[in-house]
Amino acid sequence: MKNHIMKRNFTKRKRQRTQFPWILKVISVFFIMLFTVTGLSQSLNGEVQLSQNYSQTKSSEIDKKVENLLSKMTLSEKVGQMTQITLQAVSKTEGKVDQKYEVDPEKLREAITKYHIGSILNVYSSALTLDEWHQLITQIQDIATKETSNGIPVLYGIDAIHGANYTREATLFPQNIAMAATRNPSLVEKSAAITAYEMRASGIAWNFNPVLDVGRNPLWPRLYETFGEDTYLVSTMGEAYIEGLSGENNQIVATDKVAGCAKHYLGYSFPLSGKDRTPAWIPERMLRDYFLPPFQKAIETGIHTVMVNSSEINGIPVHSDRYLLTDVLRQELGFKGFVVSDWEDVKNLYNRDRVASSPKEAVFMAVMAGIDMSMVPYDFSFYNYLIELVKEGKIPESRIDESVRRILRVKFILNLFENPYPDLELKSQVGSPEFAQVSLQAAREALTLLKNDNGLLPLDKNQKILVTGPNANLRSVLNGGWTYTWQGDEESLYPKTQATILSALQAKLGIANVTYIEGSQFDERPRVADRRKGTREFDQAVNIGQAVAAAKNADVAIIVLGEPTYTETPGNIHDLALPRAQLKLAAAIEKTGIPVVLVLVEGRPRIITPIVDDAQAILMTYLPGASGGEAIAEVLVGDYNPSGKLPITYPRYPNDLVPYDHKPIEVDNPNKLDPLYPFGFGLSYTSFKYSNLQFDRNQISLGESLTIKVKVTVTNTGKRMGKEVVELYLSDLYRSVSPPVKQLKRFQGVTLQPGESKTVEFTLNQDDFAFHDRDNQITVEPGEFKVAIGNLSNKFELLPY
Ligand code: BGC
Repeated sequence: MKNHIMKRNFTKRKRQRTQFPWILKVISVFFIMLFTVTGLSQSLNGEVQLSQNYSQTKSSEIDKKVENLLSKMTLSEKVGQMTQITLQAVSKTEGKVDQKYEVDPEKLREAITKYHIGSILNVYSSALTLDEWHQLITQIQDIATKETSNGIPVLYGIDAIHGANYTREATLFPQNIAMAATRNPSLVEKSAAITAYEMRASGIAWNFNPVLDVGRNPLWPRLYETFGEDTYLVSTMGEAYIEGLSGENNQIVATDKVAGCAKHYLGYSFPLSGKDRTPAWIPERMLRDYFLPPFQKAIETGIHTVMVNSSEINGIPVHSDRYLLTDVLRQELGFKGFVVSDWEDVKNLYNRDRVASSPKEAVFMAVMAGIDMSMVPYDFSFYNYLIELVKEGKIPESRIDESVRRILRVKFILNLFENPYPDLELKSQVGSPEFAQVSLQAAREALTLLKNDNGLLPLDKNQKILVTGPNANLRSVLNGGWTYTWQGDEESLYPKTQATILSALQAKLGIANVTYIEGSQFDERPRVADRRKGTREFDQAVNIGQAVAAAKNADVAIIVLGEPTYTETPGNIHDLALPRAQLKLAAAIEKTGIPVVLVLVEGRPRIITPIVDDAQAILMTYLPGASGGEAIAEVLVGDYNPSGKLPITYPRYPNDLVPYDHKPIEVDNPNKLDPLYPFGFGLSYTSFKYSNLQFDRNQISLGESLTIKVKVTVTNTGKRMGKEVVELYLSDLYRSVSPPVKQLKRFQGVTLQPGESKTVEFTLNQDDFAFHDRDNQITVEPGEFKVAIGNLSNKFELLPY
């Protein structure tokens, strides 16, 4: 422990270096105790309950097995393990709505027996059925285990981003941004446990999730895959997700657990332009304070694999960055699993980024930087170059052994050598009503009421309503990208049993009480998917006219606006404003004077400022998943009382895209920040009052056992039962590097009957006060701190030793 003496505010103060993992074990214990998986997931685990020692005893045995196997492998077999190809590379047919998917057995055999590939990923173009997965995985593992000298099973990887979304029968959950709005880690854990179960039921043991990017640029088309803009929220939800995927004791050996992949290491979510796969410029201190902690937490939680940021930071493509991939990830954070590249990104060091002057140099750079497996994914170039590089003596074989050990270890831990095949017994529960119930509950808890003037909501069930807007009657838009296809836009693949917002409202209010006019497309230009299929005939003026006419005969208009489905570069936008076509529709309806509810179905906060004042109510729904329609209807008619809190700042202006935990200088000017709705905002149909914000002491000395207990009482002062998410924000009032104005440090949901009060207690510890100082060292500085909960705040002082 190193102590520095520094001067601040004319007093001598001690700075204390703490260890980097600054979100202490206490938090995880706290959450484990608080949110132990109950009921459903216990029954999930029930059949495969393993003793806690099982994986521990196995660990040394696994090491022995790995060494034994490694000693028998040829160089080509080893390099093959480091090679990952996409399913398309070994397929005969694509498998679309009207075409059955077919693998090409000869290409598959060649990939496994000649190139010894260690991993396959993805679907060719769309989700397979359980039976198709079973056939495919069995075929792959038969070749790998029976037709090769060492019988090493293939590790199949998939993007199960919001449920096992590439299995047709599986349960689709809200996307991560919506899960973050629930502020309910228990639901995140349950959804991940179901995802793992349904993946394993499909025969797949490796999930390219959780996304641990911190969503600090709202333009970024993958914002919805994140748990929002706050580092603590992302870390906490990420931890819960990993526990759900791999079990409380990290028992991925269990037949219903899978290995996760923390991605995209590091800084992927903060491109300067807001567009996917464009450069980020992130100083070291910011990387460490904002972007690294979720990965640190994931490693502490036992994540088995990490995927790399496809882009570059400060001019260095991350796939070639030895400092981040080896010095920080391995030496500093102690990561023991394996690192997989992102799609084609080893090649991209030459093709796109031009830091390598040949494809072979790109392979050299990536492997020497710390990549263990290359998602090549269409050919065997990586394999061929890497063998050459070793034979030429440019890469030592010991470096190859290091990667192969890490990969084999994960395969052993997953028990793939003993049982590489899909577990038929798991099949029956896939897509069960029990699982759908968890998705519905998550959607309910995510919905965030942003405005409700004069108590317009909940609707009176006898009212006549007009439903309009491009997102009112589609299933795809509730789910977003990564649903059945990469872009999620094949509407015909969505089961007809899944409600749209319109059909769910019709079911609640009766068809006769609901009039529907589409009203608008997403944009004046047709959406990409429609352009691909040939432009639809759509006359915006006629549609708006019809919607306005219908509004005159209705009591309330529900205008369902937002985005089509997208992910990655197809989701790039030039303008965060909601497209004009939708703004025009909403403005025309608002002009009639009818009360208006705006329902936003969108993966990022599109700017809606021109239509906010004349709307009486606004409901943010994010991408609420397969049960989203039902949950939205429940909230609109008052069958469920909303409690979601924004996991992002909702901007008012296109140029005020600054997260909530900004610096004091941001507000210290006449044009101060003025978001439309702040991070953490969300209304209820009842009201809550905070009182008695207390600490167990007001002064504490810096030291190992530094903790401070914070208590607050919450009372439901309204007329109906409701859940309030209590959030604790901490402000370091003065410090050597300008402090964020406030930071979320704890949250907890409490459900209260009318008139009921509950006291919520949080414990803060030394690591909650830590930050990276002027030398980028993790530090806690003494001084005054402010705790704010609800409308209350109180200060305490950290004293030097
Ligand atoms: C994405 C990753 C994804 C991979 C495999 C890439 O384009 O960036 O998030 O895991 O594809 O589908």
